Amino acid sequence: MYKCSICGKEFENLNDYVSDVAFCADEERKRQDALKKDALAKDRSRREEELRKAESHYYKLLQEYKKDYGQKRPDPFEIFFGF
Ligand SMILES: [Zn+2]
Repeated sequence: MYKCSICGKEFENLNDYVSDVAFCADEERKRQDALKKDALAKDRSRREEELRKAESHYYKLLQEYKKDYGQKRPDPFEIFFGF
């Protein structure tokens, strides 16, 4: 007696068992790929929202800077590396 550990079906015949395991493994791979794709799709909107907030924060800081120091945009190297 052979038992597929994926679907739980039991087989008397080795060839039937091997065919089932190959089929079930392929289906399981597809299912896992779909789950990964779903997780990425859900995470995408969260990350887009995070980017929008960061852009909005940056824009606000830039506007405040321009208001206080004029129109010259600060050099990113001066901001990040201090020179
Ligand atoms: Zn199976």
